[in-house]
Amino acid sequence: MAEAPKAPITQDVLTIPRKIPEGPANLIGMSREQMRAALIAVGTPEKQAKMRVGQIWQWIYVWGMRDFAEMTNLSKDFRAQLAEHFVVALPEVVSKNVSTDGTRKYLVRIAGGHEVEVVYIPETDRGTLCISSQVGCTLTCSFCHTGTQKLVRNLTAGEVIGQVMLVRDDLDEWPTPGANKEAQRLLSNIVLMGMGEPLYNFDNVRDAMKIAMDPEGLSLSRRRITLSTSGIVPEIARTADEIGCMLAISFHATTDAVRDTLVPINKRWNIEALLAALRAYPRLSNSERITFEYVMLDGVNDSDADAHRLVALIKGIPAKINLIPFNEWPGAPYKRSSNNRIRAFSDIVYAAGYASPVRKPRGEDIMAACGQLKSATERARKSRAEIAAEAGI
Ligand code: SAH
Ligand code: SF4
Repeated sequence: MAEAPKAPITQDVLTIPRKIPEGPANLIGMSREQMRAALIAVGTPEKQAKMRVGQIWQWIYVWGMRDFAEMTNLSKDFRAQLAEHFVVALPEVVSKNVSTDGTRKYLVRIAGGHEVEVVYIPETDRGTLCISSQVGCTLTCSFCHTGTQKLVRNLTAGEVIGQVMLVRDDLDEWPTPGANKEAQRLLSNIVLMGMGEPLYNFDNVRDAMKIAMDPEGLSLSRRRITLSTSGIVPEIARTADEIGCMLAISFHATTDAVRDTLVPINKRWNIEALLAALRAYPRLSNSERITFEYVMLDGVNDSDADAHRLVALIKGIPAKINLIPFNEWPGAPYKRSSNNRIRAFSDIVYAAGYASPVRKPRGEDIMAACGQLKSATERARKSRAEIAAEAGI
């Protein structure tokens, strides 16, 4: 790992200017087909366009190149033409915090001055990047810090994949030409578990993940990408069909009454509707289990009876249950369940035949843990009363 586990907490403002200029189109975020059309529109002969896309794609997504002048297998004239019409631009990193456990949290500014957070979590066998799909969230899960922030806007596909690119920059992970591409990756997994509900920004998230999975580019396996949703039932089948990544469901409760208050979208699609969609999830098999995320809230959803109900509800679905100790945030209306309670709950789930790992909170000292992300855009803040009203508590 590039980061010593005991690194001190640091906060440094990166000075690399990454402003997205107005005018030239950004190649980052375009599908191959869109890039081809864009090249043709600025005069690239149709017959050559596909090959040119292949070359540019490789420079950008394999080698991390940003400067057309360095794309040496393209003619000088073509490079000049590219520089005139296009840019290769990433969101701007405003600040970076490094936790004592090596977790890195980036505050990233996107067009319009909005901010989202991105978290990189190094582990022994992998490095997971938690990316955001929206600025804020339209949903109001009552235990989630992001839920206190109104939706400002959806991220574009370029902004979603841009998060992956800029962290690879920071990890200094782009290979040098000729080097072995298969060496162990620092950034090996992506989880769509940052700010926002990815299935409410479906097209952009899909397009960005297609870029991440492109075998001639970033080339991440679909099994190393996990999309977490609060349960937007009509989009679940599309996730399998159009993205094909792994699925995680923010389940969090075993009765509709409790889930209505924790995950208010449950009032629209209740537990029964959600489970029906999951049973139909086309890729369901033992090797591709659905992850059920379950936040452990003291005295709310953590009883033995809850654990028994949970395993009864998901019976027949190849699943893994990820228990998440609640990460507290200032003003949060809940407390984390005790370790003993979490263990007892986990034992019941395990005895029923399900893996039930307890997610280790990472980066708590820099407020980077699950559900603690929130941009500082205070004007977009929901009031406590609004949250309580929307959650029905
Ligand atoms: N909107 C999506 C993805 C982002 S949240 C979703 O809801 O699934 C990623 C995970 O963190 C979800 O399971 C969410 O319920 C959980 N989470 C949110 N706030 C949390 C908190 N304070 N402590 C622990 N987990 C939390
Ligand atoms: Fe939005 Fe997910 Fe937070 Fe719910 S848990 S408010 S869906 S980000």
